[in-house]
Amino acid sequence: MSPKQISRLRCVICGKGYSADEVSYICPDHGNEGILDVEYDYDYIRSTVSRDSLLNNAEMTIWRYKPLLPVDPDSETPPLAVGWTPLYSAARLASKHGITKLWIKDDSRQPTASFKDRASAIAIVKAREQKAEIITTASTGNAAAALSGLCASIDQPNVIFVPESAPQAKIAQLLVFGSRVVLVKGTYDQAFELCSLAANKFGWYNRNTGFNPYMTEGKKTVAFEICEQLAWRVPDVILVSVGDGCIIGGVHKGLKDLFNLGWIDRIPRLIGVQASGSSYLYQAWKNGEDVLTKPAVEANTIADSISAGLPRDRIKALAAANETEGAFVSVSDEEILAAVTDLARGSGVFAEPAGAAAYAGLEKARAEGLVGAKDKVVVINTGSGLKDIPSALKATELSGSEPIIITPEAEALDKIF
Ligand SMILES: *Cc1c(COP(=O)(O)O)cnc(C)c1O
Ligand SMILES: [Zn+2]
Repeated sequence: MSPKQISRLRCVICGKGYSADEVSYICPDHGNEGILDVEYDYDYIRSTVSRDSLLNNAEMTIWRYKPLLPVDPDSETPPLAVGWTPLYSAARLASKHGITKLWIKDDSRQPTASFKDRASAIAIVKAREQKAEIITTASTGNAAAALSGLCASIDQPNVIFVPESAPQAKIAQLLVFGSRVVLVKGTYDQAFELCSLAANKFGWYNRNTGFNPYMTEGKKTVAFEICEQLAWRVPDVILVSVGDGCIIGGVHKGLKDLFNLGWIDRIPRLIGVQASGSSYLYQAWKNGEDVLTKPAVEANTIADSISAGLPRDRIKALAAANETEGAFVSVSDEEILAAVTDLARGSGVFAEPAGAAAYAGLEKARAEGLVGAKDKVVVINTGSGLKDIPSALKATELSGSEPIIITPEAEALDKIF
């Protein structure tokens, strides 16, 4: 039996609705593009939870929003504390960009140090509900690490497919957590196909982004937190980096949920930030292209977590920008690396390139007039800088920072200071 709060799963292409017991992943009529949107019974949800009841809820994880999530109320949840990450006010950076207010939502503070924990937490609960023996995912690295860590927390066997080129720290996480790790000599897109094939063939639970409809539902919790942390006074703009487009679609979904519940009175503009070397959605948005026919682009960027030639969740991602009067911007690898040090020095938040890209996007959006002086802005940092040390060192090199190397003598100090 599917949970009572879910009403339908609706295909984003044909609009056909299914009950949650009827299909597991995608619309049978539309294959991999037929991603399903989870629809809720908001009247029912309103009868079980309110903004006031949340005030007395001591559960400071994504599970404080359990009645708004696609899981059975009685399902056990994993012990790792996913969610409720800090929302920092960044006054110095706000004045640098000439805007009223800027907050950094810091998802580097998740258990496995990226935003992906939000989705993987849902995946393992759904897999357990379906009594799956093995969970699998393909990933550029962070979704894999997230699934791997969460599986370790509940002793859940899992198989992970990542490109061989994934940053070392992310591969180390997988091995440390004890996953079966498959390094694919190819791109993320190829790893994705191989993983899907294996899931089908062996009957594994498939967590893949832009395929499993429940991943958006985990990712939407960031929007719940931002709004609750701001006492339900919504910002004007939220910026987030975009690879497959699942996060921005999730942010949009979370905001729509809150709006439909009557907990917020408007929906902020969503700005998706892509790397110029992997800018499928930026191009599609700018040129009004049809993402059902637009072919994959060659993806090549230092921001590995947003390197995606054919964004899997492109339909929801495009809708997130279009339906909120938002936008897409694109930033170069140089701008991303500069953002790593600028964000760190201006706020104390150390982001991996894909996380810093969202901050680089603020500068771009400001320059393009997409963010105005009066706007209150949230930038989401999606991953920790410790995930990719070589890129961090490249960023510091570009910023002109060099360590001082000295012999351990007092005279050496005098020569320098
Ligand atoms: C996955 C990821 C993104 C992008 O999320 P999508 O859903 O693929 O758009 C951005 N930043 C980091 C650090 C990520 O791991
Ligand atoms: Zn369909």
